[in-house]
Amino acid sequence: MPNYKNIAIIGNGPAASALAILLTGQGCKTVIFSRPSKAPITVGESLVPMIVPMLQTLGVEKEIAAYSTLKPGACFSYDADELFQFRFNETPDDVPSYSYNVPRDKFNATLLNKAQISGARLIEREVHLSADKNGLLRLDNDALQAAQGAWDNQQPDLIVDAAGRVNLIGRLLNIPMQKGNRQDRALFAHVDQTELVDPGYVHNDRIEQGWCWRIPLPGKVSLGFVVPESYALQHGETAQAQYDNILKADKVMQKLAPNAKRLTEVLPYQNYQSVSATLYGKNWAMLGDSGGFVDPVFSSGLLIAMTSAFQLAEINSRNNSLDDYEKQVKHHITAWNELVDYYYDGRLMTSIKVGDSLEDNGFNRLILPWIKGHVSRIFSGAAASRPFSMKLLRFLVTYGLRDRNPETYKIK
Ligand SMILES: Cc1cc2nc3c(=O)[nH]c(=O)nc-3n(C[C@H](O)[C@H](O)[C@H](O)COP(=O)(O)OP(=O)(O)OC[C@H]3O[C@@H](n4cnc5c(N)ncnc54)[C@H](O)[C@@H]3O)c2cc1C
Repeated sequence: MPNYKNIAIIGNGPAASALAILLTGQGCKTVIFSRPSKAPITVGESLVPMIVPMLQTLGVEKEIAAYSTLKPGACFSYDADELFQFRFNETPDDVPSYSYNVPRDKFNATLLNKAQISGARLIEREVHLSADKNGLLRLDNDALQAAQGAWDNQQPDLIVDAAGRVNLIGRLLNIPMQKGNRQDRALFAHVDQTELVDPGYVHNDRIEQGWCWRIPLPGKVSLGFVVPESYALQHGETAQAQYDNILKADKVMQKLAPNAKRLTEVLPYQNYQSVSATLYGKNWAMLGDSGGFVDPVFSSGLLIAMTSAFQLAEINSRNNSLDDYEKQVKHHITAWNELVDYYYDGRLMTSIKVGDSLEDNGFNRLILPWIKGHVSRIFSGAAASRPFSMKLLRFLVTYGLRDRNPETYKIK
């Protein structure tokens, strides 16, 4: 028997919809309170392969494939000169050999629609939450009335904050967010085209300061900069001026996107390395970005958000404690944060470079494909679920750099 049967989910992103699909499958009475996003474009367009099995379980892969770009791998470039490529069909068989770059408006709509088809109720209205003296959260009366009949006019058993980085419950209850090491600024827009190594790869390029992503989408490219605040400010006062001037003036961008024309407005993001100190209470839980988010360098955000939906649903179906849920989510976020640190300090690419330049002998021919298999598993999204692969990587970046200086691949 599921633990909680009457469930309110606040938010209409992928984490909210995935959870609603899974909970209705358990027979829970699930209501999604949605506030449609006014943003013209949404970040989170490149999926790692480990999301594909989730899309299959949710029954939405075919629809998503029809409007997305097939993503066969990823590449990381340094000053536009040196390239590291990872093809997902070279990963071990237990990991999907492909993924997708998705237009987020359509991706969100597919999942939300599936949630409704599965039996979740969708109510478009802002919810006001309050906490009573016992620490229980309550929906405001209007919201309860709008959900009329769903839970016999009672408060739900569980309220899930899936409203993204606004962190509704955390702000209401003053729960602190633990910040990560970097406090960069991201500037996001779509452009008409850029140079591409492969028309489906997610491209990650070190620029003069910070890095940029290039995600090919049908008919356009998502291009975003993740740069130190000071570098952004050198290029103008507004997000738009900063974006346009970095695109024009950064020496690396002059090679990678010399003719790119911006198609959308520029959206700025700040503070995207953060985890809530607590992810659950007596009758509430945080899901997806509302509980924590990781630097976007490895496109791990949607994986973490959607995995947390699967974890919460599983905990509910087994009648396990929300404490287990919190541990699982924090473990996942911690694993990705560790990888992110190895990217920024240059040790990740240095260790890969060492592997590529080892002498050709019988031992190395045996051991290198095995090591590469583990490393590519991590890039595919299996970082937290494969503790041995993470341990191996930790060993390589600590003891396997030989005489190479990781500064070569450090991100300023
Ligand atoms: C710069 C940057 C680049 C990124 N790139 C990638 C990437 O390439 N790949 C990747 O996987 N991830 C990426 N991410 C992360 C990814 O965008 C998020 O992890 C993901 O969208 C989280 O999903 P979610 O469902 O938890 O939240 P969201 O997608 O944020 O959904 C929350 C929804 O709730 C709605 N909402 C807000 N307030 C309320 C309210 N009061 N009531 C009701 N609804 C509300 C919002 O409108 C929103 O639609 C990136 C993040 C950043 C900052």
